[in-house]
Amino acid sequence: MKIGCPTEVKPQEYRVGMTPNAAREAVSRDHEVIIQAGAGIGAGFADEDYTAAGAVIIDTADEIFATADMIVKVKEPQPGERKMLREGQLLFTYLHLAPDPAQTNDLLASGCTAIAYETVTDARGGLPLLAPMSEVAGRLAPQSGAWALQKANGGSGVLMGGVPGVRPANVAIIGGGVVGTAAARVAVGMGANVTVLDRSVPRLSYLDDVFMGRLTTQYSDKGAIEELLDRMDMVIGAVLIPGAAAPMLISREQLGSMRPGSVLVDVAIDQGGCFETSKATTHQDPIYDVDGIIHYCVANMPGAVARTSTIALGNATMPFMLALAGKGWKQACADDPHLLNGLNVHAGQLTYAAVGEALGIDT
Ligand code: NAD
Repeated sequence: MKIGCPTEVKPQEYRVGMTPNAAREAVSRDHEVIIQAGAGIGAGFADEDYTAAGAVIIDTADEIFATADMIVKVKEPQPGERKMLREGQLLFTYLHLAPDPAQTNDLLASGCTAIAYETVTDARGGLPLLAPMSEVAGRLAPQSGAWALQKANGGSGVLMGGVPGVRPANVAIIGGGVVGTAAARVAVGMGANVTVLDRSVPRLSYLDDVFMGRLTTQYSDKGAIEELLDRMDMVIGAVLIPGAAAPMLISREQLGSMRPGSVLVDVAIDQGGCFETSKATTHQDPIYDVDGIIHYCVANMPGAVARTSTIALGNATMPFMLALAGKGWKQACADDPHLLNGLNVHAGQLTYAAVGEALGIDT
């Protein structure tokens, strides 16, 4: 199969759909890999890294879309890219169609077959192509929050790990899933005093076991959150209710009980955010102040570490990409019901029920 990987065109997107190692694996299975010139630069991969892996560098996205059997990307195709998709072409990337009728209609009109990273599942009920980005965002959250705690950024001037004779920062992490666990690992490693809150008691038991007394777990309810706020230097919002907007966990009024310069990191901002005062920010302008509390609400946190994120995403997508290229999408999906769950669009038909319900389109 001819596999094409164009340069990402969404603003501030530095990741790339295929790493040189993924290209090498595909080429070693007799597939042809074409990469747009410069596609890997944002993630630290030169064109020469791809040619050394056996890929061919192509100047323009037009040529890639015109000739590749499968397009492998990171972000949903932008309007200009959607115009280039063809009938029978396979698209493998993040799509997030439910809130995006314009993209959905364009994909349906193109006649392509589109498999969305975010709806591919695994045997444990997880989302294996979303999890690596949650790992990245979780590990970044305490790091970004620690930066915001610094005085020059409006923070209270508290050092995460303290020093001998001075207490460390108190950090609460609300939501102990993939993001919350990764955030806890880094915050504990930085020497902070960490409390994780979740509504799942089995999840709290798991965290209690794996962290062996290095953090405190607490059941998450309104009272528990309210009671913590005046002690916390940093609160990280890491909740997810699948298929729903994030629940609102801290109101504007409650900010008044926090010490000035304390920090809220809302990782759940891509689902609407879990603090009343959250609004999405960018890497260029990541923080803002509400009533003396510093908010960090970057909606695409993994973009800050495009190289790590690209490799992590590539590791997760590679087996699926190779199965699609090797067997064709029909056989690959017939053999793997988890990959089949990724199928969102085929030949002008929407094939993913939840997207159909959200957009009022038959599936
Ligand atoms: P997950 O499903 O692994 O974990 C979510 C956890 O939240 C679960 O353990 C669940 O029990 C818990 N939860 C639900 N309601 C709660 C409540 N009221 N109080 C406490 N805990 C509650 O999800 P995840 O992969 O960890 O993702 C967490 C959030 O991070 C999601 O909103 C996701 O979209 C977001 N995210 C954002 C970025 C970014 O760049 N900003 C990147 C990756 C993920």
